[in-house]
Amino acid sequence: LKSPYHGGHLEVIVGPMFSGKSEELIRRVTRAVIARQRVAVFKPAIDDRYHVAQVASHAGRSTPAVAVREAAEIRAHLLGEGPLLSAPDHTLPEVVGIDEAQFFGPDLGPLVLDLAGAGVRVILAGLDLDFRAEPFGCIPDLLARAESVEKLTAICTVCGAPATRSQRLIGGRPARFDDPVVLVGAEEAYEARCRVHHTVLR
Ligand code: ADP
Repeated sequence: LKSPYHGGHLEVIVGPMFSGKSEELIRRVTRAVIARQRVAVFKPAIDDRYHVAQVASHAGRSTPAVAVREAAEIRAHLLGEGPLLSAPDHTLPEVVGIDEAQFFGPDLGPLVLDLAGAGVRVILAGLDLDFRAEPFGCIPDLLARAESVEKLTAICTVCGAPATRSQRLIGGRPARFDDPVVLVGAEEAYEARCRVHHTVLR
């Protein structure tokens, strides 16, 4: 059960929607709990206050989590308001999991690197690519800095091949390249697709 790394480190789990990122995060977190380690899991909140929630996979497994609006709230939740590295070690959990990490802004990077530097095992799960198949926000930088990276694939809904992309459909049709990455209030759906069957209208 001991970490293969000396001290804290960063593990990143990426892939398209439906690739099992949440499942894999839940699996790793559950094993840490079985090992009696202190674990804290966070995810982005859709409403305006942090609250108790859960990370749930599409297949129905879940683990308790705290929903937060921004990375600063993760920091505040773990430490109170003080600077991270001045906190005594025992106040930090041994494992911090963060789901849907692509939705956090540029503040996520410094936070997770501070945590890893303070001895925490940080497990991030998130989309590596947005619906256009472009690198998503802070994730590429964190992939480069991580000790361990797992790229998962889903199953292409068109041909059954391994899917590496998330197809956005608006009213059943492929979305346009210039649609915003985060669309509010539209009739949209997502499907896992391979490179061949992923379509973005220009
Ligand atoms: P992610 O967090 O990457 O979106 P989840 O862990 O929530 O993925 O869900 C993965 C589960 O989704 C799979 O185990 C499977 O039961 C289900 N699933 C639904 N559609 C697909 C698909 N097209 N490819 C693979 N798994 C799918």
